[in-house]
Formats: sequence, C-alpha cells, structure tokens
Amino acid sequence: MASRPFIVGNWKMNGTRAMLSEARAIDRAAQRHMKVEVAIAPPYTLIHAVHREVEQIGVGAQDCHPGDEGAFTGDISAPMLADAGAKFVIVGHSERRQGHAESNDLVREKAQSALDAGMQVIMCCGEDAKTREAGEAASFVTKQLKSSLPELDNAGDILTVAYEPIWAIGTGNSATPDDIAEMHAEIRKLLVKLYGEEQGTGVRILYGGSVNPENAREILSTQEVGGALVGGASLTADSFFGIALAA
Ligand code: PGA
Repeated sequence: MASRPFIVGNWKMNGTRAMLSEARAIDRAAQRHMKVEVAIAPPYTLIHAVHREVEQIGVGAQDCHPGDEGAFTGDISAPMLADAGAKFVIVGHSERRQGHAESNDLVREKAQSALDAGMQVIMCCGEDAKTREAGEAASFVTKQLKSSLPELDNAGDILTVAYEPIWAIGTGNSATPDDIAEMHAEIRKLLVKLYGEEQGTGVRILYGGSVNPENAREILSTQEVGGALVGGASLTADSFFGIALAA
C-alpha cells in the first residue's frame, strides 16, 4: 500500500471565488504536514483558480465527459480539465450514478478518458441501504467496481478507489470500522485479482461517507483504509485539516 494517507475534499456544487481563501488555508496547512497527501476537487469553475493559488495540494475534478471534444452542450472533457490544472478526476460518485443515471459502462469510459488525458482516477463505489439490509453489500460493490474499472497495467500508480456507502453520504451516519474493514478487504481482493499482486496492492482505498474530525482517527486507522474522501467537512480549512491531522 502507498505510504502516505490520501485525504481528498469533494466540494460538490459548493464554492465561488470567495472559497479560494479556504483553498489557500488548506494548502498552507498541507505544507506543514507533509506526512499526509491532500487534494481537493472544487467545482469546474474554480479548478484553474485553485490550481494557480496552491503549491502543495493536488487539484482535481468531480466528473468528466467520456469524449475529448464536440457538440456536447454543457459538458466538460478530460483534456479540458487537464488543461485547467486538474491532476485527477473523481468518477462514478453515487450522486452521478443516481442523479444522472450513469451506468458502469459510462463510468468506465470516463475513467479511461481521464487516464488518456494524463490524469489519475478516483473511482467511487458503494451500496444503498436496501442492498446492505439485504446482506448483498459486498457482492454489489465488487460487481459494480469490476464493471466500472478500466484495464490497466499500472493501476498502483494512477488509480484510487473510494468506498462510499450511499446511506453514509451526508447523513452524519458513517459506516462502522468493522463494516469498512470488511468491504475494503473485499475490494483489495478484487483489485489483486484484476491487476495482479503488485499493482493491486498499490491502489489506495479511501473511505467516504460522513467523515469528520471527530470520527476520522478511528476510520483512518482501520485496516486497508488508505485515506478519506470528504464532502461536507472539506468545505472549511479547519474541519478538513482536522481530518488530515487525524491521519
Ligand atoms: P460527506 O460526502 O462527507 O458529506 O458524507 C462524502 C462524499 O460524497 O464524497
């Protein structure tokens, strides 16, 4: 497993230029705590500005179109994101899969497009409450991931997986360390099967879903947790860095 914990802020549809001061504050804190790798995914409109303002932290996007260019009104392509300064793209977030009916095939195409543009990929996966109650969480997540991940020779260098149970996102109700450990072990098994021992163990597996400065230490010290994907608590430098410091 890669050595440094990876803490990623997903700002979702939040942030105007007034938020650039938070990005700068996160960057300054990251410069003092190099044991943690920190990144944020602001909305499209801020990617270039954040990229110009920060020195230490990574900047990424929350989604991309699978094509490079063309008549796709309102869409943004991976090469455009790379040009704006993005180093990674989050794909397959449940708010895209559910809110925009994104299939595993589409998610895989988006991931491939981001990689082709020279960026890294954070691939999200996760079950809803009904699936977990039915005892089918592990089989659902492994199937979803298997269909969403592209073929790769160097997965350990360019891929991160984020396990985000849908029922835990934005609810204040994070998964228990036991549930997280169990699912991350399943995901690790799949990654080794798909990419081989060396590359498969090199992929970091993040947990996401109501991570906050209070629960971060316990979650981040759980077996096979290589970091966190943080929504709500990433919107201020104080709470976001409270999480990074727990790593
Ligand atoms: P949350 O969101 O931290 O607000 O639960 C996590 C995510 O959706 O990435």
